[in-house]
Amino acid sequence: MDMLRVTFLGTGSIADMTRRCASTAVTLPNGDVIVVDTGAGQEAMFGLRTLGIDPCRVRAIVLTHQHLDHAGGLPFMVTGIRFMSLAPGAPRGRLEICAPAAAVNGLRVSCDTMYPGIFNPWCLGDRATWHACDPQHYLWGLDLLEDGTAALATDLAPAGAAEARPGAIATIVTMAVAHGSPPLPAQAVRLDVAMPDGTMRRIVFSGDTGPNLDLGKVGPEPDLMVHEASSVEALGHDTDATVTIGHVTAATAGRVATRARARRLALHHLGSSWSGNPEAARTEAAMHFAGEIHVPNDLESVEI
Ligand SMILES: [Zn+2]
Repeated sequence: MDMLRVTFLGTGSIADMTRRCASTAVTLPNGDVIVVDTGAGQEAMFGLRTLGIDPCRVRAIVLTHQHLDHAGGLPFMVTGIRFMSLAPGAPRGRLEICAPAAAVNGLRVSCDTMYPGIFNPWCLGDRATWHACDPQHYLWGLDLLEDGTAALATDLAPAGAAEARPGAIATIVTMAVAHGSPPLPAQAVRLDVAMPDGTMRRIVFSGDTGPNLDLGKVGPEPDLMVHEASSVEALGHDTDATVTIGHVTAATAGRVATRARARRLALHHLGSSWSGNPEAARTEAAMHFAGEIHVPNDLESVEI
């Protein structure tokens, strides 16, 4: 297929879980899939199946934080992958599960509570690996290697190299962000993807975060920045309250994309009070960001 596709399985937030979920799938040129956040329930798995994306090709699941709208779908996803991969001829590759270090134990227990033994060796445990991302000291990284394995990337360039790392089809990089009231471990995510022509594409996911003009440090000059936009100033939302609980407005998302020198911006994590008015968000972000802006609906995708 030789292209990189970002599919918005869900574009909502905890305020809008009955209409949208919070999950994105990135399909790599070789067909492997990286899922960033899983939504709250079965929606992400439904979305993958609806769009003809094989869940058994999910190579990595990266969780930005443990809130329900982002991680509640994890038990559905890992259990679904386990049983769908039992079908004759189904892919049975390795699965890397990446989450903030302080959230790993609870998330693993959640999965094991919903399906006891899911991570035993005879079940998914022989090919799933949990990774405790520890980005507190700047960046944490994992290389997904051409041979189907993965290796910690302990020698990341601080500013983010302009080329893919040797032997890696993709590199997952995380950086701590401030989110939640009370605060909880949360991270932004950068994906550096090796393209067949030898170039590299970069996608940065803000995760849920308060205003963070330093996101360019995790991934300068991304081809696509996927940024949360939980409220819109022009719609009269309480922007102080938005920031207090660790979110941002569409205007701030535009400012961050400009600071990071992003080529394109996608707004997601739409709040319930304006999810029916995405043009308001686009207009507001466009006052601060001159590049192309997407405000996708669930199940829409963009190619990079
Ligand atoms: Zn959220």
